[in-house]
Amino acid sequence: MTLEFIPLRQAVIGQDTTIVRALPSRQRKTIGAWCFLDHAGPVSFIAGQGLDVGPHPHIGLQTFTWMIEGSVMHSDSLGNEQLITPKQVNLMTAGYGITHSEVAPASETKMHAAQLWIALPDTHLTIPPAFEHYPELPLIHHDNLDFTVLVGQFLGKTSPVNVYSSLVGVDIASKEGASTTLNLNPDFEYGILLLEGSVMINGQPLTMQEMMASSTGLTELTLSLGANSRILLIGGTPFESSILIWWNFVGRHADELKQAREQWANHDPRFADVLSYQGERLTAPAFPEHIKENK
Ligand code: MN
Repeated sequence: MTLEFIPLRQAVIGQDTTIVRALPSRQRKTIGAWCFLDHAGPVSFIAGQGLDVGPHPHIGLQTFTWMIEGSVMHSDSLGNEQLITPKQVNLMTAGYGITHSEVAPASETKMHAAQLWIALPDTHLTIPPAFEHYPELPLIHHDNLDFTVLVGQFLGKTSPVNVYSSLVGVDIASKEGASTTLNLNPDFEYGILLLEGSVMINGQPLTMQEMMASSTGLTELTLSLGANSRILLIGGTPFESSILIWWNFVGRHADELKQAREQWANHDPRFADVLSYQGERLTAPAFPEHIKENK
């Protein structure tokens, strides 16, 4: 079984927050239904200069936020206002359409988080929007490592996070250096991102500049984490459909995305306002003339 090591790229979100993006990449568009993976921080900043992503729309996906350090206020067009703090998950189901903003509180000076998108399957692509906050996730101490089951089942525990595909997401953290061999589901493809510290996967180091990705058929992996290290393991059954991602939209065809862009630009009620946000909403970029639909 070959493990791929795929380089990450940098991107800027909000006013001026630099993150690394692991998905999608030229090499890998999805891992299961996971179709987007940003790693923000760990970073310290002057109070008042943290994350500030103004109101913007989403369709066809769930946004999944895992907070490791710091805090961010989520506000959306359904009227939800939810502060997310360490060891918590925010799950926003965009479905047919939602608008949200994400802003660090004025007194906040730190951030370390992963934000992922989960593509909704064809059967749930346009479900009504929803938002759920999970203040506590199942925690397992095994082989001197702390496993938090973010999504799906792992080591006999099940996450309460509500998803629509066979998926797994696990945060694995060490205090002292520790090794473990994980039993994996051969029906899943997997990805691993190093969030802090150091890790070896089957004896090969994974750096902060790359993500490991596997295809299906993998039954186990041996991980060795250095002291004070943390990784994110994601996986799932290969996504059933060929998806199209543009800006903040996930769909199947260019027309759907183009229509959503026009509705956002025209203040269509599909995307209501985030009433609590002080400031301008984001402007959609021009729709590309040629968008690649892979059939
Ligand atoms: Mn968003």
